[in-house]
Amino acid sequence: MVTSEWGAIYRELGARPVINATGSVTLLGGSTPVQEVKDAMDAADSAFIPLIELQEAAGKVVAEAVGVPAAYFTSGAGSALTLVTAAMMAGDDDDKIEQLPDTTGMKDEILIQKRQRYWYDRCLQLAGAKLIEFGSDDGTTEQDLIDAIGPQTVAVHYYAHEQDPADPHILSLEKTIEIAHEKGVYVTVDAAGQIFPLENFGKYVRMGADFQCIAAKYMGAPHSTGMALGTEEMIHKISLQSFTGYETRRIRGIGRPQKMDRQEIVGVVAAVKRWFSINHEDRLEDAERMSREIAAPLKGVPGVTVEMNQNTIGHQPFGVFVSVDPSVTGKTNQDIVDGLREHEPSIWTRIPDGADRITLHVFGLDEGQTEIVGNAIKDLVTG
Ligand SMILES: *Cc1c(COP(=O)(O)O)cnc(C)c1O
Repeated sequence: MVTSEWGAIYRELGARPVINATGSVTLLGGSTPVQEVKDAMDAADSAFIPLIELQEAAGKVVAEAVGVPAAYFTSGAGSALTLVTAAMMAGDDDDKIEQLPDTTGMKDEILIQKRQRYWYDRCLQLAGAKLIEFGSDDGTTEQDLIDAIGPQTVAVHYYAHEQDPADPHILSLEKTIEIAHEKGVYVTVDAAGQIFPLENFGKYVRMGADFQCIAAKYMGAPHSTGMALGTEEMIHKISLQSFTGYETRRIRGIGRPQKMDRQEIVGVVAAVKRWFSINHEDRLEDAERMSREIAAPLKGVPGVTVEMNQNTIGHQPFGVFVSVDPSVTGKTNQDIVDGLREHEPSIWTRIPDGADRITLHVFGLDEGQTEIVGNAIKDLVTG
């Protein structure tokens, strides 16, 4: 609902709160911690704790809940990606840990399929590693990977996004793991949003990858939190890069600016426990119902095509695709996106890169806001 308190904390500052119909996006604040997470974070205030010990104890609990050998908490999935590259390049060598991002004398090349380049792969370079593409725009073969692995190769990176249709032209993760491990090279996976179905949560490590990340922004934890899941060896090496080592071990790794609160760490633990205990059928039903509520006012409006997004994989189930026909409505999809932004209150939606329709998600919507969004679109089209 939009009450007088809605967004008041922002309006007091002179900033404009928005209705988020885009979903879990960092530019709008990513996520809202759920009550269980807030309660855990509040409880963390009652005492201080050596963070190295907290990381280890909390990591064990989460690794067990997820079903992977080991886990570590990071300031976002992006930080997990950066820390793992540092961990793979420097290993257990404190001199090398302090030398990064200068990679002289270390294996520093991370291979990525040309067809799998994506927005966050920049996080793999921050500790000094170089990204080397293999395969072509048309696809990747086993031989491409075999040929690409050289003396400087430290890892092969793979981007998992199972909510999208599978790309038949890429080299599969199974083959990637088989070839990379045969050559003594690590495999890392960006699985930031792969938290549902539950068997997908941690699946890539169970398949044999040395590391995968999870973005805890997608599961009701603070937006600024994430996780590394992996082998015990890899998670130990990541822990050596952590901001905790900066003070406790007096080793100055690249992880220091990627600090976490003790409240955030227990918050992620609470979010994982909740995720593995809630009724996901109810969660999906709510998302589907809210998506229908957005679509309802648009049914039968001339020149408007409304389609339900049927996806339930990953972090953002259901949602609605909306497209307007300019020859009927006199408006383009971009006009609608712009018009919604000018709406009072402002409503944020987007046309994803390369898409030709507006994508709406209910992830960031409260009950009652769905109708506001649907009606605002209808008013823009018919007004
Ligand atoms: C959100 C996201 C990231 C970055 O995660 P943060 O927790 O925001 O640092 C990385 N990869 C993918 C696929 C993501 O969706």
